[in-house]
Amino acid sequence: MPDTSNKYDDIRNAVNKLCLQFPGEYWRRIDRDMAYPKDFVNALTEAGWLAALIPEEYDGAGLPLSAGAAILEEIHRSGGNAGACHAQMYTMGTLLRHGSAEQKQQYLPEIANGTLRLQAFGVTEPSSGTDTGALKTRATIEGDNFVVNGQKIWTSRAEHSDLMILLVRTTPLSEGMKKTHGLSVLLVDMREAVGNGLTIRPIRTMMNHATTEVFFDNLRVPVKNLIGEEGSGFKYILSGMNAERILIASECIGDAKWFIEKAVNYAGDRNVFGRAIGQNQGVQFPIARAYANMRAAELMVNEALRLYELGENPGAEANMAKLLAADASNEAANVTVQTHGGFGFAEEFDVERKFRETRLYQVAPISTNLILSYLSEHVLGLPRSY
Ligand SMILES: Cc1cc2nc3c(=O)[nH]c(=O)nc-3n(C[C@H](O)[C@H](O)[C@H](O)COP(=O)(O)OP(=O)(O)OC[C@H]3O[C@@H](n4cnc5c(N)ncnc54)[C@H](O)[C@@H]3O)c2cc1C
Repeated sequence: MPDTSNKYDDIRNAVNKLCLQFPGEYWRRIDRDMAYPKDFVNALTEAGWLAALIPEEYDGAGLPLSAGAAILEEIHRSGGNAGACHAQMYTMGTLLRHGSAEQKQQYLPEIANGTLRLQAFGVTEPSSGTDTGALKTRATIEGDNFVVNGQKIWTSRAEHSDLMILLVRTTPLSEGMKKTHGLSVLLVDMREAVGNGLTIRPIRTMMNHATTEVFFDNLRVPVKNLIGEEGSGFKYILSGMNAERILIASECIGDAKWFIEKAVNYAGDRNVFGRAIGQNQGVQFPIARAYANMRAAELMVNEALRLYELGENPGAEANMAKLLAADASNEAANVTVQTHGGFGFAEEFDVERKFRETRLYQVAPISTNLILSYLSEHVLGLPRSY
């Protein structure tokens, strides 16, 4: 397959070399045991890749978003899964953009050197789902602390993180108030919180994602851990969404490339009726179409990155990149299972694992419908539906 990733060859080669130490057998074992890929995450951290986007003044590499995208794409292209650690790249942005000088100085250098893990991001709640403004977790001030009560769901990596970015309601909803007002972001130090008002319960899922539900029962969070202004939390979370969408889209491109390569190789090797199955156009064409769709999505990811790095607000492009890339990886996954026939379902080929892993991106971190709804309303000017 032609190499269409035209930037960051050095980074890509180095990440790829690291990923070679974690082959299919590693991911299969981790998947079977529903275990956290600790050795992989440690290796990435030690090599500095998770600190790529942290500015140099806080001891990170100070690289642009496109470098982060290249790192995540290569992990997925090699057959791995960055879901265990990708959040650090974008949740860190909330602290970087909206935290005080003291907060940044206190946390960012330790995140950059791997002493502290900022992997958990608590926004979604069981009763409100995508309707973030309807979230119910409450924080009230008592002396020097916020007292937090409520519940989050799908808080991924909570058991493997020291810090959590948490969105809570600090002003109760009142008549005429916008739902997205009155929300605030707290930085929770989970090392102190677990067992002292914070309970984490793992959720088993169809793919291995270390996701959990978390319960807050009078958890005390120092007022000094409020990020930015009280009541502006929704705006802060929203401001990180473009980066998140683009980085996830890059993972999908990596997945799609892995699948297409796998399908091409298998279609060339497998002989049925005395010839390679890839000689049949019924087998070729779906792979070729998946390739074309991956390339189109890749161009949109590159366009979103270009605009982002010009300092613009590429909400439409970032959302379209995520939509198209998630569709491309999902299509490529399906085609690759089909190309492998029965072996597409066999664990040892890794295809079924990656199929389950890439399916997630149709739903999280934002579902396809919600992106279409954003485009309908904000780009096409159609009436708001909710
Ligand atoms: C493995 C995993 C990891 C996750 N990690 C995190 C995390 O770390 N932190 C975090 O905060 N969240 C996380 N999430 C949550 C994720 O962001 C949500 O699952 C996702 O945003 C969808 O929300 P929901 O599950 O509540 O679905 P719902 O909001 O209940 O929606 C269900 C379905 O209905 C559709 N739908 C809803 N409303 C509309 C509408 N108005 N128009 C059209 N369709 C609509 C949606 O598209 C979706 O397909 C994770 C989820 C999963 C599965």
